[in-house]
Amino acid sequence: MTTPSNEPLAEGQGSKKLHFVIVGGSLGGLATGLALKSLGHDTTILERNPVPLLQDQGAGIVAGGDTLAFFKRYNRCDQKFAVGSKRRQYLDKDGSIVHIEETPQNMTSWDLTYNLMRANYDGIENPYCKVPEPDPAHGKATHLHDRQVTDFKEEGDGIRVFWKSGKGEEGSTYGNILIGADGPSSTVRKILEPGVERKYTGYCALRGTMPESEASEAAREAFGERFTFFHSPGIQILAYLIPGKDGTVEPGQRLINFVYYTNFPEGSAELEEIMTDKNGRRRQITMPPGMTDEAAWEKQRQLARERLPPQFAEIVCGTKRPFVQAVTDVISPQHEYMGGRVVLIGDALAGFRPHTVASTSQATFDAMIYADYIAGKISKEEWKKNTIGFARYIQKRGVDMGERSQYQNLSLQEYVDDRNVASVPRELEIYPEWATAF
Ligand SMILES: Cc1cc2nc3c(=O)[nH]c(=O)nc-3n(C[C@H](O)[C@H](O)[C@H](O)COP(=O)(O)OP(=O)(O)OC[C@H]3O[C@@H](n4cnc5c(N)ncnc54)[C@H](O)[C@@H]3O)c2cc1C
Repeated sequence: MTTPSNEPLAEGQGSKKLHFVIVGGSLGGLATGLALKSLGHDTTILERNPVPLLQDQGAGIVAGGDTLAFFKRYNRCDQKFAVGSKRRQYLDKDGSIVHIEETPQNMTSWDLTYNLMRANYDGIENPYCKVPEPDPAHGKATHLHDRQVTDFKEEGDGIRVFWKSGKGEEGSTYGNILIGADGPSSTVRKILEPGVERKYTGYCALRGTMPESEASEAAREAFGERFTFFHSPGIQILAYLIPGKDGTVEPGQRLINFVYYTNFPEGSAELEEIMTDKNGRRRQITMPPGMTDEAAWEKQRQLARERLPPQFAEIVCGTKRPFVQAVTDVISPQHEYMGGRVVLIGDALAGFRPHTVASTSQATFDAMIYADYIAGKISKEEWKKNTIGFARYIQKRGVDMGERSQYQNLSLQEYVDDRNVASVPRELEIYPEWATAF
């Protein structure tokens, strides 16, 4: 597998200065913007959110090898990025450890990742880090919020991207290449591939955090610098430490982050209940933090006490701002369109189930390898095979892991094996032919 190189760019590489229009200003869009501006190209991010900074959901992400490699390559802020976990461990229903894998892993938070990327991309001041000095070799980096992209069309040598704002303004931005980094419900993808659907899988991830300082000794022991799991039929819960307020990784100030998968069949009263917010509005995919209906969440607390080991029940019951994600599947058959004028990356290309812990890795990998291709360091075929191979192979793995975990009764060893497979470093994966065929 190709690994994005860390070599400095040779002078004259990617000699034609391009303007990239990037749809979506979350981690995928920012990663791509940062990688391309570092090559000296101009980039404009169009983000539909009406406020200048995206609001986090306060939750964790596993910082896989590609995410760490991306930060090594592009992060110019002096800020520790991740909390280390020394091992993975599995609990039984009583809360006793029944299995240990000595596997180190790095965990971080979405908000720290986002704010570091913003500081590096367009120099936005934030409490997370000191903004680095501008680099004169970098291209122009523009971030525009309240720009919902609605359409695009080829024009001359490039592409015109149409948007509207929340105030009803309409406009367009012209560039050489359009990058669709607009997430699993991507508008760019819908225009190119109207037949591709995002489908609900029949279960949700209930998510939240709790300050480690508020946790009992038993919970701190279970989750302190450990990646801890519990499985039972139809249920999987895992938890780990992530950075706390303003990205601090100081012991005592970090957060315990949990992801609790549980089945809510399509069309069931339970699904309607958990996805209807405190104002009575039915949310389709995500119930944002602070919006859960109190009676619906109280029922989940009760179920957590009955079904989970005590340490896990404590953090589920103790979280103050739970949120819910309906787990979905979506993948685009291709990632390059119109002879390379439109490219899909990250969740817009393939929305993985969270069991893969690979969504941010995909976004950062897609950004790095695309930058390598644009810089002339790798061939078009290498770029295409690696990007689509990752998307197809890991998307399928997520489906398999999720179906096994939520709908089959597996032995502990099978759960452990599934998790170990998901931790294989990307560069050691051997993609089957179906994953890379065009
Ligand atoms: C606000 C936010 C918080 C998140 N928090 C977490 C978390 O805590 N833990 C976790 O594991 N993952 C989280 N995610 C998801 C995570 O960012 C992705 O799974 C992964 O990093 C891949 O990112 P992406 O940029 O490809 O897709 P996404 O993160 O889904 O970003 C897509 C972006 O495109 C924008 N967009 C969509 N349509 C349009 C349009 N038509 N015009 C302009 N802009 C558009 C969206 O507003 C969004 O900002 C979060 C995503 C968002 C948007």
